[in-house]
Amino acid sequence: PSLIDLHQISKVYGSDNTEVKALWDVSLTIDQGDYCSIMGPSGSGKSTAMNVIGCLDRPTGGQYFFDGQDVAQLDDDTLAAIRNRKIGFVFQQFHLLPQLSALDNVALPMVYGGVAAAERRERATMALQRVGLGNRLTNKPSQLSGGQQQRVAIARAIVNRPLLLLADEPTGALDTTTTAEVMTIFEELNQGGITVVMVTHEPAVARLTKRVVWFRDGQVVNAHMQPEDVSYG
Ligand code: ADP
Ligand code: ADP
Repeated sequence: PSLIDLHQISKVYGSDNTEVKALWDVSLTIDQGDYCSIMGPSGSGKSTAMNVIGCLDRPTGGQYFFDGQDVAQLDDDTLAAIRNRKIGFVFQQFHLLPQLSALDNVALPMVYGGVAAAERRERATMALQRVGLGNRLTNKPSQLSGGQQQRVAIARAIVNRPLLLLADEPTGALDTTTTAEVMTIFEELNQGGITVVMVTHEPAVARLTKRVVWFRDGQVVNAHMQPEDVSYG
């Protein structure tokens, strides 16, 4: 079975005369091990789809199976546990806590997971080594470059060994050089078996993934676009 299986998903915001159909009849499957870009114009439903895929938001209609489980049947606590253990989130603006070291930022998801302090330290160190920051454990975010901060955020996202890494414009705040660094990390993680799904507006970024899903007006208009077919500007 697919890791992500959206079946005729709709998401409607508001009600009656203020109704907005953010997603309409979206069917999409993403298998374990895939590396996918989500693209499309502003307002086409990309963020809404990411929120549904990440179990942050429930669809209004249709069925969503994540890792074989029908999300509609799960209560809020179970969904929160799935988000913590099976999904890692990366954002455009890193969302690191400024007063904490890189190590403590990365260890945070394990605090909620009830992992003992010594093991938290060990696993956070390993995650930071995996993103090439083994020598930056005690640095605070303000002492790191943008690309390094995003790598800390990626280490935090993978520290609970998720099945899925969901990234929303992960290179949107980075320059060309640090974008390349961050994309190398995503590629390595995907080669290690993690499914990666990212929203991007940048064709050069999408071209480094295996598959592009194109949204328009709340619908998937192409679920299997070849990355090399994404045109520039
Ligand atoms: P925004 O208001 O976010 O700029 P646009 O409608 O301009 O929304 O499109 C969003 C992004 O989608 C653009 O930055 C562009 O890179 C990308 N895009 C749109 N159409 C195409 C296309 N045919 N091929 C490749 N990229 C595209
Ligand atoms: P994208 O990420 O492609 O820019 P969104 O998923 O953010 O698209 O938005 C899809 C549509 O849903 C847009 O028309 C947007 O205005 C609307 N929308 C998104 N979030 C909300 C919300 N919380 N309340 C009402 N309308 C929303």
